[in-house]
Amino acid sequence: MAGTGKRRISILGSTGSIGVNTLDVVDQLGGREAFDVVAITGNANIALLAEQAKACGARLAVTADDAQYSALKDALAGSDIEVAAGRDALIEAGARDSDWVMAAIVGTAGLAPTLAAAQRGADIALANKECLVSAGELFINAVAEGGGRLIPVDSEHSAIFQSLEDDQHHAVERIVLTASGGPFRTWTREAMAGVTVETARAHPNWSMGLKISIGSASMFNKALEMIEAKHLFDLKPDQIEVIVHPQSVIHSMVGYTDGSVLAQLGCPDMRTAIGYALTYPNRPKLNVERLDFAKLARLDFEAPDEVRFPALRLARTALERGGIQGAAMNAAEETSFHAFCAGRIGFLNMADITEQVMDSMADYGAATTMDEVFAADAEARRRAGEIIAKNEMAA
Ligand code: NAD
Ligand code: MG
Repeated sequence: MAGTGKRRISILGSTGSIGVNTLDVVDQLGGREAFDVVAITGNANIALLAEQAKACGARLAVTADDAQYSALKDALAGSDIEVAAGRDALIEAGARDSDWVMAAIVGTAGLAPTLAAAQRGADIALANKECLVSAGELFINAVAEGGGRLIPVDSEHSAIFQSLEDDQHHAVERIVLTASGGPFRTWTREAMAGVTVETARAHPNWSMGLKISIGSASMFNKALEMIEAKHLFDLKPDQIEVIVHPQSVIHSMVGYTDGSVLAQLGCPDMRTAIGYALTYPNRPKLNVERLDFAKLARLDFEAPDEVRFPALRLARTALERGGIQGAAMNAAEETSFHAFCAGRIGFLNMADITEQVMDSMADYGAATTMDEVFAADAEARRRAGEIIAKNEMAA
């Protein structure tokens, strides 16, 4: 609020893994004394959303689910917190005046609300990588036109952001994204074919939402991150490398023309990247575990295997083809992820279906407007849905 001197913030996706961690960081950095929470949003978890809204003193609480409006209204009865529901209300949450917005909705559902925040010039802390994968340059341009800053929250991209020296961007030769390799790092393709959602979601190092956990197992998460990195740091496809690093201690690296490599390290805890995005360019004091190098003893690396993890190959294809391939890949992957979770397709089918959709849309040119991005997204979902249904009929 004007005049209080507090930082005005909004958290899109406050009830998720990143959202909960963001509220923890906000608490650690002074809570209601230091921040005015303008808006928070969630989806189905109404009890948590209401509890968060009361605890942080949010002015507006929004559920994405229209059908949950009365439940949220009831849960916040007696408070002066404004309540709203549905897609337009989510966009309103992004549009409502604040200084800083955490974009932590999962999937393409986050694009329109994040865009609304970007267009009005808020600083965007970007966890929702799908925004960049699908809208790419158009999203970058929207942030630039709005005049806010885009600060990555994805741990790899935060690491790169922190390892980029000011004024030395011309001397960047490559970036190296680290990947844990997920729960199936050492598995054969045959073994992966039959895995369940429960096995696939068990990430060895990070505790995260369902989609990104499954995406870590298939390495689709890394694939999306390659495209995210291209847009965030304006890189050419051959400047983007991936290395499997099972300990997830080096969060990513930047290689320079003099042979130097700068890296950011830390325990696998998203609060470090979230805190950095919240206080950038300063570093906050955070109560997170410190690295103990003696205990760690070693760091391992191995080349990624694009045969067992075809998602990485698909990301290269998308980078090389350009156009709306990022949107097609993202939407087809999201659709197949939901089908996998519903038991309609197997784990490996996610990459097959995504590849088919990408190939079938290879001749689409670049999107020049957001409407074209949304249209490509919808078309890729339709095509992926058709393939999934056909496979079911054949089975
Ligand atoms: P999550 O599933 O735990 O939370 C997602 C949030 O989005 C929740 O608040 C949920 O209510 C909301 N949501 C779900 N469906 C929605 C819809 N249709 N409309 C509006 N809101 C909806 O996910 P997460 O793990 O916190 O990830 C959020 C984003 O951050 C993703 O883009 C993910 O790739 C990225 N990210 C997460 C991590 C992590 O450690 N969890 C790390 C890096 C990047
Ligand atoms: Mg990441």
